[in-house]
Amino acid sequence: TKFADLGLHPKVLSAVEDAGYESPTPIQAGAIPHALSGKDVLGIAQTGTGKTASFTLPMITMLAKGRARARMPRSLVLAPTRELAAQVAENFDIYAKNTKLTKALLIGGVSFKEQDQLIDKGVDVLIATPGRLLDHFERGKLLLTGVQIMVVDEADRMLDMGFIPDIERIFQLTPFTRQTLFFSATMAPEIERITNTFLSNPEKIEV
Ligand code: AMP
Repeated sequence: TKFADLGLHPKVLSAVEDAGYESPTPIQAGAIPHALSGKDVLGIAQTGTGKTASFTLPMITMLAKGRARARMPRSLVLAPTRELAAQVAENFDIYAKNTKLTKALLIGGVSFKEQDQLIDKGVDVLIATPGRLLDHFERGKLLLTGVQIMVVDEADRMLDMGFIPDIERIFQLTPFTRQTLFFSATMAPEIERITNTFLSNPEKIEV
């Protein structure tokens, strides 16, 4: 499989080329076409497999049309730790560099004021840790009813860290019609339960 055959936006393809990637990894080749067709995806993949691009590249492609509205992010990526969320944000910047898409990173240790200002202006992609996202929500600064695509990254670590109740709550705050891309290195029973509850007929890709 070649990147050019996956259905990605030309602006995304040129960013991938600039990044020096020659061909998609198995999780990318497996997940990207399904994500682009609008399906929910359940990716069983470890870090280092290229899974970040497997959700970021289709997300940028799908969001390329349309425009962000104040306080209503169009997509949401949840990661278990500040470091992982920051890595996703760095990846987003690389892959979205040829687009006008905007992002905000909501993690602890950054002032609410700065993050509020970005959200007020409107962002296409919100990248967050679950606790910090819910803090913003409870302060009344954020609506999740405009979320079209939601990503859960490293769900098994979310489970280890006790974030499953937060994740369930966040799922419930987003529209029922959203598309969900869900990634975990393992399928513990609790993860299985969440995916059965919140994913709709997902394509399972295991690498
Ligand atoms: P991840 O599993 O998402 O943490 O990605 C691991 C590393 O692989 C990152 O440094 C990416 O920049 C890199 N990477 C992702 N996709 C590809 C690809 N198709 N070809 C070469 N490197 C890649």
